[in-house]
Amino acid sequence: MPHPFAGNRLVIASHNPGKVEEIAALLAPFAVETIAAGSLGISEPEETGDSFEANAALKARAAVEASGLPALADDSGLVVPALGGAPGICSARWAGPARDFRVAMERVHRELGDKNRSAKFVAVLALAWPGGNIQLFRGEVEGSLTWPPRGDRGFGYDPIFIPIGANLTFGEIDPEEKHRISHRARAFAKLVEHCFSER
Ligand code: IMP
Repeated sequence: MPHPFAGNRLVIASHNPGKVEEIAALLAPFAVETIAAGSLGISEPEETGDSFEANAALKARAAVEASGLPALADDSGLVVPALGGAPGICSARWAGPARDFRVAMERVHRELGDKNRSAKFVAVLALAWPGGNIQLFRGEVEGSLTWPPRGDRGFGYDPIFIPIGANLTFGEIDPEEKHRISHRARAFAKLVEHCFSER
């Protein structure tokens, strides 16, 4: 059942500056004030779920509980079928405690060897309300992995990911173009269709 977004303040339940920025940009055309969870002193729960859906839901619910406001969380990652779906929900963890994605990209490259380089990014958005209502929206973008990393735009695994039909990596393309075609944009389009109207 669609649940239209009624309030005008929404907590972005992420401590990843790249994601907070992308989500705020995607929500800019809509009548909603976004507040980063970090700026409210809300800490990030441990991602104990075994799917993107479970982790997005637990992050959104934790932010609702801490703030009393509706909250939007994103759980996302790089899925490489030749690696059995890894890094998948462990995408952030592969970067280690220092969140160094050169280390994570190196590991993907090393483990992939000469296996099939197909990959996809997956994003699941969870929009949760005080009172317990929650909705989930999934978006995916297919592509392939390249080596060495190219481009310093975007974040995470962007420099090794080439979306299908393109020549440039997500680290090289114009951010506006990424916002048009990315997994997060696709999940967003579903969320907007269900919950938001333009200003
Ligand atoms: P989490 O959703 O906070 O567990 O983190 C997901 C991780 O997946 C991020 O830290 C990035 O490494 C990776 N990831 C998710 N979306 C993107 C993207 O759009 N570009 C590059 N990496 C991404």
